[in-house]
Amino acid sequence: MVASASALGLEGGWRPATPQAGGEDAPLRHFDPARLQVFPPNEGGALIELRPANGAWPPGDWVLQARSPGLQVLTFFPPGASAGQRAQFGSVEVDAWPAHDRLVFPLHEMPAGAEPLRLQVEADGVIAAPMTFAVLPVAEYLHADARWLAFASACLAVMAAMALMALFFAVELRDVTFAWYAVFVIAYALILSIQSGYVYDPLAWQWVAEAPRLWGRIATTVSVVAAILFLDRFADVGRHAPGGRRLLLGFAGLTTLLSLLGLAPALAPLARVLINPLLILGGPLIVVVAALVAWRGSRYAIFYLVGWVPLLAVTVLGSLQLYGLLADWTWSGDAALAAGAFDALVLSLGLADRSLALRRDRDRARRLADVDPLTGLWNRRAWSERLAVLEEAARRTRRPLSLLFMDLDHFKDLNDLHGHEAGDTALRLVADLMRRVLRNHEQIGRYGGEEFVVSLPGADAAQAMQVAERIREQLQDLSTSTSQRVPTVSVGVATLRPGEDTRALIQRADAAMYAAKAAGRNRVVQAEEG
Ligand code: GH3
Ligand code: MG
Ligand code: MG
Repeated sequence: MVASASALGLEGGWRPATPQAGGEDAPLRHFDPARLQVFPPNEGGALIELRPANGAWPPGDWVLQARSPGLQVLTFFPPGASAGQRAQFGSVEVDAWPAHDRLVFPLHEMPAGAEPLRLQVEADGVIAAPMTFAVLPVAEYLHADARWLAFASACLAVMAAMALMALFFAVELRDVTFAWYAVFVIAYALILSIQSGYVYDPLAWQWVAEAPRLWGRIATTVSVVAAILFLDRFADVGRHAPGGRRLLLGFAGLTTLLSLLGLAPALAPLARVLINPLLILGGPLIVVVAALVAWRGSRYAIFYLVGWVPLLAVTVLGSLQLYGLLADWTWSGDAALAAGAFDALVLSLGLADRSLALRRDRDRARRLADVDPLTGLWNRRAWSERLAVLEEAARRTRRPLSLLFMDLDHFKDLNDLHGHEAGDTALRLVADLMRRVLRNHEQIGRYGGEEFVVSLPGADAAQAMQVAERIREQLQDLSTSTSQRVPTVSVGVATLRPGEDTRALIQRADAAMYAAKAAGRNRVVQAEEG
């Protein structure tokens, strides 16, 4: 966070801990403790001296704070004490105080006069992290620390929640895209948690704490590979940019290979030299391919870019701080947390969008499978399924269920005389008319070529006869009044009997329809009871 108003003004100086060739101390180099400073991770690290800017230490209850030390080791030499106090995330010794993304030492005693506070920084084989130093009132450090902890917890909780939700979707929708997203978010959150010490306190994850460098490397590789595999499926890179896809997958393969090589002791040094430049290339490569895919029309690539670009920017700018650039941007670590949470939120929106699209596709496929394309009515199978449901409900509620079986009269003649087109038009007109006459819960199906069926839940035989008669009459009116050629219809009506199944019911209605044909067509006949 920003240097506080009540922090003491400090002046800093540092020198390499190992003396020069002649046994002399290296000269002290000046630095501003309020700006980010990197100390070379050479043998022994760096010795640091902090002095009050106004020449004298004030009395009071103060702490010395080193912000964002990463995995480096700090040793504080309290004024007058013979031994130093070592502190590192996860192994705080003696007198260092609990703190998050910072190491904090209480100043029980201020140095005499303008004597400096002395510290040593050792990188201990890890990448040096840019740090700031401050001398703060105790209350202020407590407040800043609590605020950081709340902020980091909120960001990590967002990432964890989004990742869990995505895993749930992956299982529910059997879509591995969501799983890659979850893996990426979890790996990225793990990197941030290691860097900031969150895995040590409050998490206290022993398994990470015992090998933070190994886990950091694994998480970095996994996050890059998962980000690529996620982008590939999410934005359908193969369809929009096949060349870009080969590049991305090749890159992911190479990264994985190098990481695995890094596990073999003999190859580890080579792998380590190669992997970092490769990872640094990865971010821009992903952005370029995502931008290309977005430009070629994938809306998901836009979601990806919106989420990914801030995160990438923070990562790249943050790595510039290792070279002494952007030293005033002291909240870069917090920005990484915020960018991670932001990315998780944006991509979750994208995933919600995707699951909506999947559902739309599924609905469409189902509609295509269930609906007769010519008339828009249920096809035979879909209608029969619905009839089975209605029959079951009728049995349960003891309400009547009736059925109309209709066959158009002399339809073949209409086809023969006026052409197949005219026949199709007539079929559509008949379907439209039935939709107008019938109510929503009355299911209409196209049973065969020019055969239609209607199920009438709740209708007894007399009511069903009325409905059938109404359809027959209106069709007859239509056939005489319009220029369109519409045939008349013969209808058989049957009502479900106790113990009867739907097949028998349809058969009786069909037989009644044939009786209507035999009796001269354009009429309604009720099925026999027996
Ligand atoms: P009936 O009064 O005895 O029912 O005489 P019909 O001519 O209607 O009976 P038939 O079953 O012999 O003829 C049905 C015709 O319906 C035959 C077939 O060419 C036609 N048909 C079936 N499906 C379609 C379709 O999708 N479009 C068109 N235009 N004609 C169809
Ligand atoms: Mg027929
Ligand atoms: Mg017919």
